[in-house]
Amino acid sequence: MEYLSDRIKAMATSATMAMARKSRELKSGGQDIISLSLGEPDFNTPAYIREAAKEAIDSNYSKYPPVSGYVDLRDAICRKFKEENGIIYTRNQVVVSGGGKHAIINVILSIVNPGDEVIILAPYWVSYYDQVLIAGGRPVILETSIENDFKISPAQLESAITEKTRLVIFNSPSNPTGMVYSRSEQEAIARVIHRHEGVFLMSDEVYEHILFEGEHVSMASFDFIYDRVITVNAVSKTYAMTGWRIGYIGAPEWIAGACDKLQGQFTSGVSSIAQRAALAALDGKDDSRELMRDAFLRRRNLICRLLAEIKGIRVRIPQGAFYVLPDISHYLGRSDGTQLVRTADGLALWLLDRAGVATVGGDAFGAPGYIRISYANSDDLLVEAVRRIKEALEILK
Ligand code: PLP
Repeated sequence: MEYLSDRIKAMATSATMAMARKSRELKSGGQDIISLSLGEPDFNTPAYIREAAKEAIDSNYSKYPPVSGYVDLRDAICRKFKEENGIIYTRNQVVVSGGGKHAIINVILSIVNPGDEVIILAPYWVSYYDQVLIAGGRPVILETSIENDFKISPAQLESAITEKTRLVIFNSPSNPTGMVYSRSEQEAIARVIHRHEGVFLMSDEVYEHILFEGEHVSMASFDFIYDRVITVNAVSKTYAMTGWRIGYIGAPEWIAGACDKLQGQFTSGVSSIAQRAALAALDGKDDSRELMRDAFLRRRNLICRLLAEIKGIRVRIPQGAFYVLPDISHYLGRSDGTQLVRTADGLALWLLDRAGVATVGGDAFGAPGYIRISYANSDDLLVEAVRRIKEALEILK
């Protein structure tokens, strides 16, 4: 007999993780699977960062670290915020967590009460929704579509805010759309938030350096809402460090204090060695960041060109991150003769089966007519994956 809590029962398993697990299983069973489902750079962590971690081990960084992160790491994060984002945070406004994902749940648990509304812009990163549910909050979804470049309007945000709204989650460059809001679009959104006291904005900027056009603008750099913004970032995507699990926030001190309190009970802070590696990443310099960005740009151009050649698929060219979210609604409700493909999730599973390509159905991202393709993979495999997808889709009638 299982006695799972209602909290766990209400939660969905991460769709991206589930798809990755399934494709790993098929792969280890000997099947030829091309995996375009997971959101991580296919590069290794740069050598200067790996060296710093080895050095930390030999220097006996083996004791409990401070709950919010080493002071020198938090100071390096403050320097990063100032130099790259034009935001002034002090050490006590910074908390280092187990990846951006952990940083985000800390913030949600710190300020969202059961029954509070949290506005999420669809298509959204899968975990926002379930993390809000864990806190007992009510996700309020703002819909967008390929026609408006997957962006909300300020009026749409204004009309969704009620006296129960506590938090708005913003993410640019976006996972899963790759869209980037312009400075003026962001400022208009910030102005709406500013008009509603007691409403906070969490700005998830983990893809800031994987940007192909335009500029990255940090929400907290608009002075008028600085004290209502929580800036989330991580070394995961920028430095190809997804496995090291280091993320961080800059926030008003009372929110940072609450996150510290949570971590004090949950984790006692983050791995000492990974923190030393993150310090090296932020402080050090080589050109790996730029080289990775250039590779992603080349692959974006490649995959978008190839996808556009498939009948019935519509694509918006992403300006950042390493995902593309094609509209595949043309293929829903069709059959291969034995199996009817009803939903985007169904299509993703069907493609895994028929084409040996792992993508993620848009349903879990609040994007039911789309699939998400991560192009953090080699050029050759991208070409082969799209060839297989195209060939498979021709079967659906
Ligand atoms: N935010 C977004 C939009 C993401 O796509 C991800 C990872 O996929 C994260 C946060 C979490 O990153 P991390 O691996 O640092 O937990």
